[in-house]
Amino acid sequence: MHGTYNFWLVAASLVVATLASYTALDISGRIASLSRSRMRHIWLAGGAASMGIGIWSMHFIGVLAFELPIRLGYDFKITAGSLGIAVLVSFFALRVITSKRLTARRLVASSVLMGAGIAAMHYTGDAAMRMQPAIVYDPRLFAASIAIAVIASGAALWIAYTLSDANQTNVLVKRMGSALVMGIAITGMHYTGNAAAEFLPGSICGAANDVDAHWLATTIVLFTLAILIITLVLSRFDARTALLAGSVSRLNGQIVRMATFDTLTDLPNRRTMNERFDRAMRNAKHSGGRFAILFMDLDGFKTINDSLGHTVGDEVLKAFARRLQECVRGGDTVARLGGDEFVVMLENLHAPTDAEKMAERILDEMKKGLLVGNHPLQVMPSIGIALFPQDGDTVESMLKHADLAMYEAKRGGRSTYRFFEASMNEAAVRTLQIQQALHEALNGGHFYLLFQPKFRGKSGELAGAEALIRLDHPEIGTLTPLEFIPIAERSGQIVEIGYWVVHETCRQLARWRDEGCPPVKVAINLSPRQLHEADLVENIMMIVRAEGVQSEQIMFEITETVAMQDAPRTIEMIRAFQENGFEIAIDDFGTGYSSLAYLQRFRAKQLKIDRFFTNGLDENGQEGRAIVSAIIALAHSLDMDVVAEGVETGSQLDRLQDMMCDEMQGFLLAMPLSADAFGVMLEQGEVSA
Ligand code: C2E
Ligand code: CA
Ligand code: CA
Repeated sequence: MHGTYNFWLVAASLVVATLASYTALDISGRIASLSRSRMRHIWLAGGAASMGIGIWSMHFIGVLAFELPIRLGYDFKITAGSLGIAVLVSFFALRVITSKRLTARRLVASSVLMGAGIAAMHYTGDAAMRMQPAIVYDPRLFAASIAIAVIASGAALWIAYTLSDANQTNVLVKRMGSALVMGIAITGMHYTGNAAAEFLPGSICGAANDVDAHWLATTIVLFTLAILIITLVLSRFDARTALLAGSVSRLNGQIVRMATFDTLTDLPNRRTMNERFDRAMRNAKHSGGRFAILFMDLDGFKTINDSLGHTVGDEVLKAFARRLQECVRGGDTVARLGGDEFVVMLENLHAPTDAEKMAERILDEMKKGLLVGNHPLQVMPSIGIALFPQDGDTVESMLKHADLAMYEAKRGGRSTYRFFEASMNEAAVRTLQIQQALHEALNGGHFYLLFQPKFRGKSGELAGAEALIRLDHPEIGTLTPLEFIPIAERSGQIVEIGYWVVHETCRQLARWRDEGCPPVKVAINLSPRQLHEADLVENIMMIVRAEGVQSEQIMFEITETVAMQDAPRTIEMIRAFQENGFEIAIDDFGTGYSSLAYLQRFRAKQLKIDRFFTNGLDENGQEGRAIVSAIIALAHSLDMDVVAEGVETGSQLDRLQDMMCDEMQGFLLAMPLSADAFGVMLEQGEVSA
């Protein structure tokens, strides 16, 4: 018994198979891009259902396309069973193609399983006709149909697997092409299977009265198409919203990251740090706990940047950031505030020593050095520590205080750490004010000199004066050199100020001379930084000559400590001064550790005993007197005059006179005087130069 094929239904079966394949491919791509497992399951189940219905109905349409000259019908239960098989096979196929990795072995095994599944569905579908006598199958065609099913499944699985990769281009065209291939393969399997079926003459269909075939064909085609199209539309729609939601959240993530993290080191930035501080502070206030802020920057980072370039500088910052992260505990925060400024916040602090230990650990780690590119670098931080609650109750004050402590660490020799102390606050404010005042002082004419008279020990005659600088600032008032000289020394401004002092002294000397006063000797103090100026003596000579003053009228005071720091250089310097007619005094004697050998080679004119020893004449009894008299004897043996500084009491004066001290200076005898007042004293007193 031979059947014929209804062309339209055959075409419809191919369309349905292709559409089902396309749907499967689309959904597999969909599933592969889903990260949420719930959504994956939903799409897997829905996809399997619609793909299964697609394949099954293709098969069913194919069966209906085949017209036998007898009345045909289908057993409902068996038909439903074949649909079940189709859905199961589809589910399995979707699982395989959306898996992370598809190995060759898995592909072969899956193809065999899926091919067998499709074949099972096909032949179960045939069985639904309950033909009597049963259909006889041509063994070769039967085997061929199964082989086609397996090979087609393999190809389909492979194509679908590669297409589910999110990085594909031209996905639409590729998918349509492969869907067509898959569709042809599935229909091919079906019609080979049909060809294998031999309906024996006189067969009758046992299910002929169950479901009417023609009615079924139309319903199924329409129904299947509807399901496939709806599935596709849903998949597309979901993909678009997911894509949109995905890119929005990605973008959002990027923006949030940029706003909260430092792009160079990937550490939290200042803003994030502030937020975490705030939280830590609230927690600590609530629980009565404490935390510490370690504020640090890299010593000499600017030099690295300038000499090795910004790329190396950036690498140093990154390497330092990594080191810091290695040092801290899990709950601690490391942040970069900008530039080479970093902050570590230690929460749940048990004792201040915890912060100390962390600072030491960071310093130890950094001592090991960094390897940046090919440069082995030793970069050390200075660390300032502020503790909550004692060192501040706002984020700003904590940071500011930790910063001040870091500044102190730098002053204390760098590569070290300091805890914040209240005194640093006032000191820092004052330092800033003075720095500002110094900037304006020279041009603003805020400096002036006082002259403290020096007297002869024996006769009490005026022997000369020491020029002492003052800064009178319109806003902060009068400053003593003890306050601003160290600051000017650090900033280097002292050099210019020093020349001003020489200039001003010469000007006054010339003025007193022009007013008819007897010539007088004035001592000028020199700072360490000035002594490092290569052409100091020449420059001073130029000033002195320009003012028409004799260099013999000027003496320079160098403190003992500074003189001894680089004694050979000091000797050279002193020679240069002496060759130009200037005299030299060693100031503040007794505060440093003099080598007598050098003291002799300095060949200074005067030795000025520090005020401390003068004071000791009264305070330290016999011992104090013994020291001063030893110093005087020493100086005399080295052919130097002795000047006692800070004479404040009559008993000091008496004792010094007894000890044959050559000159005296102090509040008892005369306060530092203005140039005018000193001029008056000059006129009246008998001066012996
Ligand atoms: P110094 O060279 O030891 O100057 C003597 C200091 O002792 C002066 O303080 C003076 O006012 C003070 N003094 C004088 N007699 C007595 C006394 O009887 N009792 C007490 N308690 N103090 C007395 P001043 O003017 O504040 O100067 C302090 C330091 O500043 C000076 O110490 C000197 O090292 C430095 N200095 C002052 N003027 C200059 C300057 O023009 N250039 C440089 N580089 N340093 C200067
Ligand atoms: Ca002095
Ligand atoms: Ca002195």
